[in-house]
Amino acid sequence: MSDGIVGKAKFRCSKCGELHEEEVTSFEATGGSSRQMGDENEYTAIISEECHNCGSNYEIEMKVWEYPTGIINYSSEESSGVEELEADYEVYHTPAHDSSRVMGAAAGGAIFGASIGGPFGAIIGGILGGLIGDSVAKGDKNG
Ligand SMILES: [Zn+2]
Repeated sequence: MSDGIVGKAKFRCSKCGELHEEEVTSFEATGGSSRQMGDENEYTAIISEECHNCGSNYEIEMKVWEYPTGIINYSSEESSGVEELEADYEVYHTPAHDSSRVMGAAAGGAIFGASIGGPFGAIIGGILGGLIGDSVAKGDKNG
């Protein structure tokens, strides 16, 4: 089972012709079965509202079948009180926690530390030592 289904519905009130556009996030798992390529899940959302223009009632029932997981295989809509219904669905995924970037930074730091500890560390240490020694010598002259 995936994280769920979200949809968009675009339709006109069949009484006054007012255009409606809605985000549909009320999908609920209403069934499913095990098939050859894994689970098949059935989701249903029902929109039951009043037209904000003329006040007439409309109802849309949307069904989506997800199979295999993550793929919308089939969808169907039943409606009353609307016309020119266009529906669009997608599988909703909760954003995955990006832990690979953190791991990469830690690995990079470890490699950098190791290189400092090696021959390069000795060279950098030598240069820094020389600079500090030089500034100390200047300080002595000016003071
Ligand atoms: Zn209307």
